[in-house]
Amino acid sequence: MDKKGRADSMKKERYSFCTECRKECLYTLQKIERQYDIKGKQYNMEVTIAICENCGEEINIPGIMDLRAKEVEEQYRRAENIRY
Ligand SMILES: [Zn+2]
Repeated sequence: MDKKGRADSMKKERYSFCTECRKECLYTLQKIERQYDIKGKQYNMEVTIAICENCGEEINIPGIMDLRAKEVEEQYRRAENIRY
């Protein structure tokens, strides 16, 4: 899961407050697969999370909840063939 060392222009790196480190830390956005329960059914969704580069913990950054909700919604619609 470590993709360091590769020149990736798409990789976004920014600083945000990490509650584990109690300070502003560099974080990276990663795509992971997570299980979601929607209306009693389980789905594996690919969602974006922010990882603290210092401690490796997942941190919450502004807007990531909205982004994740959108990702889950899109994949749910695709899985269930719901048209827009
Ligand atoms: Zn941290």
